[in-house]
Order: sequence, then C-alpha cells, then structure tokens
Amino acid sequence: MAKIIVIGAGVMGASVAFRLAQAGEDVTILEAVRVGGGTSGISFAWTNSNHKLPRPYHDLNVAGMRAHAALAEEFGGTPWWHGGGRIEWEAEADQAAHKENVERLRSWGYAAEWISPAQVAELEPDLDLAVIGDAAVAYMADDGWLDPVVYAHAMVSAARRHGAKLELGVRVREVETQGARVVGVKAEDGRRFGADMVVNCAGRWANDAVLDSGLHIPLAPTVGLLVFTPPVACSLSHVLGNPICDMRPDGAGRLMLHVNEIDAKVAPDTTPGAGMPEARELVQRAISIFPGIGPVEPEAARVTQRPIPRDGLSAVGPVPRIEGYYLAITHSGVTLSPFLGKAVADEIAHGKQRPELASFRPERFFN
Ligand SMILES: Cc1cc2nc3c(=O)[nH]c(=O)nc-3n(C[C@H](O)[C@H](O)[C@H](O)COP(=O)(O)OP(=O)(O)OC[C@H]3O[C@@H](n4cnc5c(N)ncnc54)[C@H](O)[C@@H]3O)c2cc1C
Repeated sequence: MAKIIVIGAGVMGASVAFRLAQAGEDVTILEAVRVGGGTSGISFAWTNSNHKLPRPYHDLNVAGMRAHAALAEEFGGTPWWHGGGRIEWEAEADQAAHKENVERLRSWGYAAEWISPAQVAELEPDLDLAVIGDAAVAYMADDGWLDPVVYAHAMVSAARRHGAKLELGVRVREVETQGARVVGVKAEDGRRFGADMVVNCAGRWANDAVLDSGLHIPLAPTVGLLVFTPPVACSLSHVLGNPICDMRPDGAGRLMLHVNEIDAKVAPDTTPGAGMPEARELVQRAISIFPGIGPVEPEAARVTQRPIPRDGLSAVGPVPRIEGYYLAITHSGVTLSPFLGKAVADEIAHGKQRPELASFRPERFFN
C-alpha cells in the first residue's frame, strides 16, 4: 500500500482521494482552508461538454458527465447534482457560430436539439420570449449543474470511510524530494508529511505548494464574478445560456448569475460585495429576462479564479524528472472531476495507463 498525499480538497482533490482510498491506498488529504474552499466553492458549476474543443477534450467532458450520472447508482442518489438540461441562444451577430456549434455537437452524438418558442415557454414559463426575438434556441437535455461543495464533501466523506485522513489548515509549501523521488511535503507551519507519492490538486494555487520552479506548471488563470439574487419567485429550472445573462437556480429560489464580459471588470483582489455596480448590472439583466422577479437587489457577489493550464486543456499525469509527483489541474473541473478521480486512481493504484488522458499529460509543458 502506497502512502499518498493529495494536496487540496476541492472537487478534484476530493474525487481523486475517494478513488485512491477506495482502491486501498493510504491517503491523506492536506487542505489549506476547508473542503470546497477554493474555486470549487465559487463556480457556475454547469456540467457540460459545450464548446469543449478539440475532440479529445469534448470526449473527456462527456466522460465527466457520464461519471456524474453513474454516481447515482453507486451512492444511491446524487443530491449534489441537478439535471434538467440547458436552454441556449446567442446574439444576432453570433447566430452562424451558434448553429455551427450545435450542429457539431449533434453530429458527435451529444444531446442537443433545436426547440421552438412554444417549447421554450413550456420549459421556462416565466421567461419573456421577447428577449429571444428571432434567435435560434438550442436545448441540451443531459446538461445540468452541481452543488460543488456538497459533492466535494460527499467524496471526502466516502474517502474517509475507506480510511483516508483529512487534515484541514495545512498549507503545503514544498514538495520534498530525495534524489529524483518524492518523499513527502513540508507545510507552511514547518510540519512534514512523509509520502511515496504526492498528487497536486491545489487548482489555481498548484504552484504555491511547490518551491522548485522547475516543477511549476504554466497557468493562465482567469477571474470570474458570480452574483446571487435573494430567493425570488421565478420558474427558472434550467441552465440558461444567452447574450444577456447566464443563469441557473442556486437553491431555495436564489438565482446564480454570470456574464463573461463582466468578468473582465474584476481583478483577483477585487473585494466583491452585493452593492458593487457589476452585481447590480447582472441582476438588472436577469430581471430583463424574467420580469416577474420584480425589483430586487443582489444578495451576494463572489470572485475567484479559474485554474486553467496555459493551453486551456487539462493537465493530468506524472511530472517528468521527479518520480512520485502527479498533477491533476484543470478548468471545467466540476464536470470532469468524477471521471478524472477514477482515471487518476486507475493510473496510480492499478498501474493502468488511461488512454483518455493521452492528450492531457503535464509533460507537454516540461519538455
Ligand atoms: C466563475 C467560474 C465559473 C466556472 N464554471 C464552471 C462550469 O460551469 N463548469 C465546470 O465544469 N467548471 C466551471 N468552472 C471551473 C471549476 O470550478 C474548476 O475547474 C474547479 O472548481 C477546480 O477544482 P479544483 O479542485 O481543481 O480546485 P479548487 O476548488 O480551487 O481546490 C483546490 C483546493 O486546494 C486548496 N489549496 C490551495 N493551495 C494549497 C496548498 N498550498 N496547500 C494545501 N491546500 C491548498 C484550496 O484551499 C482549495 O480548497 C468555473 C470556475 C469559475 C471561477
């Protein structure tokens, strides 16, 4: 049995730790803050494989969606995952690109279809159809969204049932090596944890856990702003993608709002607040789609960063040069984590090379 340290307890670390512990490994999760306290706790968390190019990355995300669905049988239910699908339309100028994307998805066997205004009204009775105008509307039936912290907690709990240990408040600063082998990690407070293998699942902060810059992975993180309404009387029950304001339910009647171009107005060190003008703008945009919400102010705004390897694709696998050091860093981690958790455990615990990971090896950054 190998002694394995997993750094980070977001959706990735939780999934990896669960599958490694289930495979019989001696797993310790070291988490600086709390379970789901990083990007996973501030994520739009739409489970999908929309606009995921090239094809191997699309397939990887579809595998993630299927892995989420398969958890229902394994856990007797998945209270952290919400289905229902996605309704999507685009601005006039983006109609051709939208059609091309949806037709490509259909040709790849993805559940995507064109729906009529009457069907939109049936799916979302409170939506003001006038905001859609003549735009073509697509419906992706297998898309959904996740409560990532609930999911991460469930995976950590399952890992602990298989004997894994969880240490909160441990900020890893150094992956320690002897010769060309990992022997453990050193934490900020000076504590040392011995290990045969270290799996870095620290997301956007992956490089902060490693002193040796030769082991750093090039990241191109982007900043995201999410805005939340208070509970409102609104039918919204799908993930809505559109040029005005992306939105989805967030429990107890709250709506989660996001607009890509407004992300550019915030910085990693922005202190978000319900009163910030960007938050108000997102709520106004949501009201223009669902006028029945009535006048309402934002309840909360949150900012975090996406853990994106420089080329936009996942980085999953061993790091060359050091034996026993493995990376699992990716954007779309909410969608991908249940699949990647299993794939990583197959590689580490069972010595099986997973062909699905061939295009996503970290070594592409180290050669
Ligand atoms: C606005 C926004 C929208 C998004 N929308 C989607 C979406 O719709 N669909 C989708 O699939 N994905 C989406 N993502 C991406 C997704 O949320 C991330 O890919 C995913 O949450 C990454 O999970 P993770 O476990 O790798 O990282 P994190 O959740 O950040 O977990 C890393 C953990 O490591 C801990 N940590 C950090 N440094 C250390 C250290 N030195 N020592 C110990 N612990 C450490 C942190 O505290 C944290 O808990 C979105 C992200 C953002 C920001």
